[in-house]
Amino acid sequence: MGTSPAMNGLDARQVGHLSGELERLKQEALAGVRRSAGEMSVEDAELFRDLGLSGDGGLAEAEFERDVAGAAKVRAALIAIVAAERRLAGGQYGLCEDCGEPIGFARLEAYPAASRCVRCQESEEKRGGPSHFAG
Ligand SMILES: [Zn+2]
Repeated sequence: MGTSPAMNGLDARQVGHLSGELERLKQEALAGVRRSAGEMSVEDAELFRDLGLSGDGGLAEAEFERDVAGAAKVRAALIAIVAAERRLAGGQYGLCEDCGEPIGFARLEAYPAASRCVRCQESEEKRGGPSHFAG
């Protein structure tokens, strides 16, 4: 068949499920952006372009919340989700970005965009790292 076995411990059905969850979460986040009031900053526009999200659904006109914390939350969620989709496409999905160990289906089901295993995420949080959106 030519494909090597997945190293992340997930079977095709689990990957399919998580892929669907990521898509759903992305649509939710994008809907949140569209609903919100306020203008998208140049920085946000660049971010969206970098993420490949502009130009396919009116995101050029997308608006962010005036609430800075809310906007940051939406941004963080989108970044984590898009990064997870890229790992999925690149065959790296489900592997901890710090230690390379499988993250595990239970954790991914709770946080489809998780990029770290529980152990590494906990030490990251102790260092004051990113929010739970990244896992
Ligand atoms: Zn780890």
